[in-house]
Amino acid sequence: MIKKIKSKINQAIRDFNMFTRKDRIAVAISGGKDSVLLAYILKNMGYNITPVFIDLGIRNSEESKERIKELSDSLNINLQVIDIKKELGFTIEKVYKHFNKYTCRQCGAIKRYLLNLFCIDKNFDVIATGHNMDDEIENLLSNNLRWDLNKLNKTFPVLEKKDGFIKRVKPMCYIRKREIEKVVEILGLKYCQTDCEYSKLGSRIRYRDVIRLIDSINLKTMEEYYKNFLKKREKIKIITEEKDIKKCSCGNITSTYKCSLCRIKEEIKTD
Ligand code: SF4
Ligand code: ZN
Repeated sequence: MIKKIKSKINQAIRDFNMFTRKDRIAVAISGGKDSVLLAYILKNMGYNITPVFIDLGIRNSEESKERIKELSDSLNINLQVIDIKKELGFTIEKVYKHFNKYTCRQCGAIKRYLLNLFCIDKNFDVIATGHNMDDEIENLLSNNLRWDLNKLNKTFPVLEKKDGFIKRVKPMCYIRKREIEKVVEILGLKYCQTDCEYSKLGSRIRYRDVIRLIDSINLKTMEEYYKNFLKKREKIKIITEEKDIKKCSCGNITSTYKCSLCRIKEEIKTD
C-alpha cells in the first residue's frame, strides 16, 4: 500500500514536472491527514522539504500545530509558522463575522497570498499542497457545472510560476481519499482530528455525496472524469489565459484594481 502511494506520487511528479531533488519545496501543512502524509512521504523519498503551517487562530489550530511539531521533530525538519493574527491583525473568526457563508472563499485567498509572500521571501522554488484526487474531483465538478473556465484552468496539478505567484503543485492528485486514510493508519501517523468550525461553509462539500453515489455505482467513473479533464486541459488554457494583469497598491499582482488580501483587510477595517 505504501509502495503504491509512493509510486502514484512519483508518477504525478514526473507527469507534471513538479520539482526535482534540487528544489526547495514548501509543503503547505494544515495538520490534517493529507498534508501530514504528503510531508512524510516526500521527506521519505529524499526531497528537500520544509513544512509551512498557517496559524488561522481557529478551534483546531493548537491541536494542528502540536501534531505538525511532532511530525517535524520525528522527521528532523524545520517547521515554519505563519501567524495570521501577527500578519494581518485579525483571525478567521473576524473574517466569519464579516463574510459569513463566504468565509472559506476569503480564508482560501488569505492563505494563498500569505503563503506565497512567505515562500517568495524565503526563496522557495515551489509550494506543494496535500490536495488529493477527491478534492480535485470536487473542484472540477463544481467549476464544470458552472462552466467557469478560469477556475477550470486552475484545477490542474501544476500552476507554473506566473504573475507574482510561485509554482504550486499537488503531488497527491492521483490518490483517492480512502487510500490516504488507509495508509495513514498503516503508518500510524498522528494528525489533527478536529475539523475547522467553519468547514460546513465550504462550497465543495455539497458535491461529496454526488461523488460517493457515483463511486458506489462504478469506482472508476469519477477517476476517469478527472483524468480525461487533465488530458483536455491544454485546450481550456488557450481560451482563458488572456487576462489583464494589474498591480495592487500593496505590490501584489491582481486581475482587478485591488488584490483579495487588501479587499478583505478593508472590509474588516470597517468594523
Ligand atoms: Fe479556512 Fe474554510 Fe478551511 Fe476553515 S474550512 S480552514 S475557514 S477554508
Ligand atoms: Zn493588495
